[in-house]
Amino acid sequence: LKIESLKKYYGKKPNQTKALDGISFQVMPGEFLGIMGSSGSGKSTLLNCIATVIKPDSGTIELQGKEIQALKGAKLAQYRGREIGYLFQNFELLDNLTGRENIMVPLSIHGVSEDESRNRLEKLSSYLEIDNVLDKFPSQMSGGQRQRVAAARALILNPGIILADEPTGALDSRNAKALMEKLLGLNRDDNTTILMVTHDSNAASFCKRILFIQDGRIFHELRRDMERESQ
Ligand code: ADP
Ligand code: ADP
Repeated sequence: LKIESLKKYYGKKPNQTKALDGISFQVMPGEFLGIMGSSGSGKSTLLNCIATVIKPDSGTIELQGKEIQALKGAKLAQYRGREIGYLFQNFELLDNLTGRENIMVPLSIHGVSEDESRNRLEKLSSYLEIDNVLDKFPSQMSGGQRQRVAAARALILNPGIILADEPTGALDSRNAKALMEKLLGLNRDDNTTILMVTHDSNAASFCKRILFIQDGRIFHELRRDMERESQ
């Protein structure tokens, strides 16, 4: 994923907010990249541009050399559903659907048969330890269970990239750590690329590289010491 000179301004001159003011970086396949910055620094705007939820004013976003803003119709749906999975701070589960039904939502949207994905569901729900809540409604689940169900939904179509916006923001520290360990496992074992926005430094400690943004610009980059990590 290659982001080049991305800009997004809200409002009209002279009262514009420069949410993204020329952001460039690359995410390598299989990377676990963190984006840190205070509230209002442009993190959600960045993820929303990558997720094609909003359009940047200028700049490019390429996946494997293809400009995603040029995608239309089936190609765009393919990108949104199968190339990326989006995980939100507030889970965004549908309250009147069970865990299983929530996880299945992307399948119906993308026309995948339930049969085809049964294996994937079984694997994910066992890995994420949500077997026992598949038939419960979100209101009957703990925060950690809700977020793991949301993670299963984001992963059911086996996307190469997970975009996570403050995924631990609504979790207590124990559930936050459990979620991060699951994301790290997916990153290591499935080679899933993870791009995570956070201001939780415990969550960020799972990232191999962290970009710090302020006022819509990258001002610092941190790489973790891989030697130390492998010990
Ligand atoms: P966070 O800080 O957790 O990323 P925010 O509370 O800043 O989230 O934003 C939540 C939603 O409100 C986002 O969809 C964002 O685009 C929108 N938003 C944020 N700031 C403004 C604003 N000044 N005017 C209109 N919408 C805004
Ligand atoms: P973060 O996710 O880091 O909290 P955001 O991307 O939500 O930052 O916001 C970046 C800046 O853009 C903030 O100043 C916010 O108020 C503003 N902003 C975000 N969304 C909107 C919007 N829809 N309309 C107007 N201003 C917005």
